[in-house]
Formats: sequence, C-alpha cells, structure tokens
Amino acid sequence: MTKRAIICGAGIGGLATGICLSRAGWQVTIYEKDTEIRTAGAGLNLWPNGVRVLKELGLGSQYEEISCSLDYYKTYSSSGELVSIEDLRNWRERYGAALSGVYRRDLSRLLQGALENGSIRLGHEITAVERGDGVLCRFANGETAEGDLLIGADGIGSVVRTSVFGPQEFSAGGLVRWRGLFNLDDVDADPLAEVEVWGADGHLGYLPIGNGRAYWFAAAAGMANDTDEVLAHFSKWLGSPVPGLIAATDRSTVIRSELTDFTSPLKNWSRGRVTLVGDAAHPMLPGMAQGANQALEDVKALGNALASCEDVEKALVSYEQVRIAEVAPVVRFSRSLFDFDDQYGLTKSDSNPLFERYDRIVERRNG
Ligand SMILES: Cc1cc2nc3c(=O)[nH]c(=O)nc-3n(C[C@H](O)[C@H](O)[C@H](O)COP(=O)(O)OP(=O)(O)OC[C@H]3O[C@@H](n4cnc5c(N)ncnc54)[C@H](O)[C@@H]3O)c2cc1C
Repeated sequence: MTKRAIICGAGIGGLATGICLSRAGWQVTIYEKDTEIRTAGAGLNLWPNGVRVLKELGLGSQYEEISCSLDYYKTYSSSGELVSIEDLRNWRERYGAALSGVYRRDLSRLLQGALENGSIRLGHEITAVERGDGVLCRFANGETAEGDLLIGADGIGSVVRTSVFGPQEFSAGGLVRWRGLFNLDDVDADPLAEVEVWGADGHLGYLPIGNGRAYWFAAAAGMANDTDEVLAHFSKWLGSPVPGLIAATDRSTVIRSELTDFTSPLKNWSRGRVTLVGDAAHPMLPGMAQGANQALEDVKALGNALASCEDVEKALVSYEQVRIAEVAPVVRFSRSLFDFDDQYGLTKSDSNPLFERYDRIVERRNG
C-alpha cells in the first residue's frame, strides 16, 4: 500500500521534502497556510552543501539556469578599500558545486515545478496534530488529513513542533537585517562576485542572483527604523560600491526582518511518526547564510534514513541523530557572527574579526 506523507509548510524545506519523498514512492501532500507560496526575502545565497542536494534531487542543471554561480568573494571597507579577494573558481571541483545566488521566487518555482500537480494544498493552516498508529492533522478551515508520516516544515513558529514538543524559548530580540533588490546593469558591480562591505557603523553584502538581478543584505548601527533611514545611512559610504547600489535599489523591494533563534537547541526533532525539517527544527541567525542550505541537508538525511529503514519511527530517530549533531555547530557559529555588538551584530572598528574568520566560515559551510 502506498505510504502517505503529510508535509506542513511549502517553504524551501517543505517543497524539497515533497520532491524527495515522492521520488521515493510516498504519496505526498503539502499543506500551506498561505493562499500562495511565500517568496519573501528576495535573494538567497546557496552554498555548495545546499546545491549538492538540489543536484541529488535531479535539479542541478535547472538550478544553474535560474541562479548565478559566483567566482569571487570580495571584502571592502566602508570607505572603499579593497580588503580581500577570494578566488572561488575551483569550488566546483573542490566542493562539488559553486557558491551561488538565487532569487527566492525562482527557486520556489523550480521546486514547485518538480512536484506532481495537485500535491500542494494552499490555504490550509494546520492547527493541531494528533498522534496514534498514524498521524491526524486538523486545519483552521475545519478539514482534517491522515497520514503515515508528518513532516513539520512550517518554519520558525512551527505549529507541528509546538504540538509535539511544546513551546520553545527564543533569544532576545533587537537583531535586524534589511534587504533589497537592484539590477546589475544599473551599477558598476562585478557580476560574478559576492561582496561584503564593513564599516564601524554597519555591514552590507550583495550578490548577483541570476537574470540580471542582484540583492543586498545589511545591518545598520544606530536606529535605522525605516527604509528612508536605512538607505540614507548606507548612501554615506562614499568611495565604496554601496552608494551606487543603494541609488539603484527598487524601494518597493526593501524589507526589514527581525532575527532570532532558540536559546538552546531542541534535544529531539522526532516523536513517533512526526518529525521536523528546516527552521521548524533549527532556526538560526543568517550569519553563515545557511538556513535554507541546512534545510536542504535535512531533506537529504531524512530521505536517506527513510530509504534505509522500513520502520518509519526508527528511521526518524536515526535522521534526527545524524542531523542534530551536524546542525548544532552551524547554529552556534551563525550566532557567534552576531556577537560583536550587543544590538546589531556589528564590529566596533574596521578591523573586523570576520575577515580573520573567513577561512573557518568556508570550511564549516562546505565541509
Ligand atoms: C535576513 C535573512 C537572510 C537569510 N539569508 C539566507 C541565505 O542567504 N541562505 C540561506 O541558506 N538561508 C538564509 N536565510 C534563512 C532561510 O531564509 C531560512 O532558513 C529558510 O527559508 C527556512 O526554510 P523553511 O522551509 O524551513 O521555512 P520557511 O521558509 O519559514 O517556510 C515555512 C512555510 O510554512 C508555512 N506555514 C507556517 N505555519 C503553517 C501552518 N500552521 N500550516 C501550514 N503552513 C504553515 C509558511 O507559510 C511557510 O510557507 C536567511 C534568513 C533571514 C531572516
């Protein structure tokens, strides 16, 4: 008999889990609370570990078409001094994939397109989970669904996680990131480089994300509360590439995100026939740009565990044993990159310890 998997949430984690399980013969239904697939966040940095999973799902060449592979990683000071250039052109051989940038909307479309028609049910908000021999989910619209396996891919505020493990404690607020989009043609920017610019009063990084688009992410010291203030703040970094890309930014794309993670990691991700992937299991600060990459790694490990063990409950336990150990240092390291300043995660001087840590970051992301 075909085994039925219920996936809660159609983010990158949920969509990729759906592809992985349907390829393994599961009958998959993804329930998404929103009436359309969420694409907020503009751009995304996918590292070789995440891209390798897309390749294993058979999506490697399609991913190359929609994304931008990057050959260099450059750092500047806010006054325009080039601090370092890393040549990444051997990453394809060394790590099995390039560093890349992608437009979130394009990645979601690619993942959606790899699923069977009808496997995503929008406007279905899971409100409760009941566990017995199988799993029963209740939705806000009064419907219910039964399955042999439930995967909570419902993000940082996961209802599945709370239903099974109770409420978690989140770290104190105050960390904020801003993001925006611009067209590469409108600026004098290297179309094959990810660039990070550091100043005493902030940090801004940008990268091409395919189809002539690029995206920036930034944290500003001081109270940059709205779009005008944040754009004005970074327009002052004269001599660096930043004022040019700020001038080219489409204001309607600028978004502000408050960041948090758990005060301590979950000890278990699985109970019975229910497990978690992605931010539901391990929310992390974006210091290493690894949240989506780690969600993809979860998918691969979950697929491997289910393929190698007929007993679903045992497979879920072996999945969490592998992944809890792997993801813990990534979460910790991502947080440590925000520890330089008590409010914005910024350095207090231009001699930024991040430059010294760069090798360690690469090692951990790719290893
Ligand atoms: C500023 C910032 C920059 C980032 N940059 C990067 C980066 O460059 N690279 C990277 O790898 N990661 C990055 N991340 C992290 C990355 O965005 C997340 O880790 C990733 O999107 C998590 O995917 P997910 O599928 O687990 O969760 P989500 O993307 O949160 O998806 C969860 C889905 O579940 C749905 N849902 C929620 N509750 C319910 C419910 N009750 N019922 C049904 N559906 C529900 C939601 O609507 C949503 O569609 C960044 C994060 C931030 C904040």
